[in-house]
Amino acid sequence: MDTAFSQGTLCVQGGYTPRVGEPRIPPIVQSTTYRYDDLEQLHRLMTLQEFGFKYSRTGNPTVSAFEQRVNLLEGGVAAVATASGQAANALVMTNLLHAGDHVVAAATLYGGSFSLLHNTLPKFGISTSFFNPEAPAEEIARLFRPNTRVLFGETIGNPGLNILDFDKLAGLSRRFDVPFVVDNTLASPVLCNPFRHGAHIVTHSASKYMDGHGTSIGGVVVEGGGYAWDKGKFPDFTEPDESYGGVRYAQDFPQSPFIIKARAHMLRDFGACLNPQNAFLFTVGLETLPLRLEAHSRNALALAEFLSAREEVSWVNYPGLSVPGRERLGRYFNQPWGGGVLTFGLRGDFAAINRFVKRLKLTTLAVHVGDARTYVLHPASTTHAQLDEAQLALAGISRDMIRVSLGIETTADILADFAQALSAKE
Ligand SMILES: *Cc1c(COP(=O)(O)O)cnc(C)c1O
Repeated sequence: MDTAFSQGTLCVQGGYTPRVGEPRIPPIVQSTTYRYDDLEQLHRLMTLQEFGFKYSRTGNPTVSAFEQRVNLLEGGVAAVATASGQAANALVMTNLLHAGDHVVAAATLYGGSFSLLHNTLPKFGISTSFFNPEAPAEEIARLFRPNTRVLFGETIGNPGLNILDFDKLAGLSRRFDVPFVVDNTLASPVLCNPFRHGAHIVTHSASKYMDGHGTSIGGVVVEGGGYAWDKGKFPDFTEPDESYGGVRYAQDFPQSPFIIKARAHMLRDFGACLNPQNAFLFTVGLETLPLRLEAHSRNALALAEFLSAREEVSWVNYPGLSVPGRERLGRYFNQPWGGGVLTFGLRGDFAAINRFVKRLKLTTLAVHVGDARTYVLHPASTTHAQLDEAQLALAGISRDMIRVSLGIETTADILADFAQALSAKE
């Protein structure tokens, strides 16, 4: 599919072009296995001399249609889908890092990503220094070490909802020659394309807006090109991979060494691949992504404005409502939309917050974000319950914070639900 098409068209048609008589919709290829005629053919595939489907852990036609659609939407060079968003971020880290390496990451990360970096990777000898994303570049620069191999952040922090200062981080990535990895889940490719702003690798939890209907867990990693792997910091990319007949990813596959290694090596060994059923649902979900994000954003802005005027509410945070968010939204976002998630502070103690949550009717308590239904969550007592006070503060979470993921229901019904839950007296 021609990349010259705009996003709305790529969402619907990108990544799959049927030949005459083939299904118009990317079919679900529910097969682990593919047929070959001769041993030499299969040998070429197994040694990366040729590319094709051999076993669905490392590639499947339905999954491939999804990967290619996301790749086109992000403007990347190649993509690989994973079993979940967590698997996507873990794949990036294991594809890049060795014991003894170091990561510099925003402190305002999704709870699962924070845990991966803070609790789990240290057990494999990989350490992370976290920074406040609003800190000046010079302060963040002091965290870089000779063994730093990844700079990691999220386009929109979850649940801090801070928009990343891409120029500042891209500058640090260039200065220290460290690949810049961005989790673009909450923005989706419709709101932001991090490759245009200096990122080298983009990850997504497809379980959120790409699915859009809360049906499936999955993830995807996209390579943007433009990182020189051959300057000595990444021997896995420049030295022969003996497990693949001595291929050198950077030299042999200069177009997309990161994704070819991630698929051929990491999916082969760790196996966290996406299944075709979920890939199909994501591909269908992507068709309406721009329409849904506009509706999610419209509802979120309306609720943000409604809550701002309520005396029960002490503060409201929504990307684009205040500086520097508004300025960054204008600079980095493809659309004038802030996305579907907002946070606010409710006056009162934990019991009052719990009563408010219970009184909501149309809106339900759920850990999820980014599907058609409106959800609330109290991060401090749930997703981020393991964090201490200092970590909570650094992650941009307060005890009174309620996170709302706006669905695409009718705006007036959502506002009425919040109004009745705020107004009810014991
Ligand atoms: C949900 C989420 C993840 C993890 O994705 P799963 O599909 O749930 O594993 C990672 N990053 C962000 C920003 C998320 O919102």
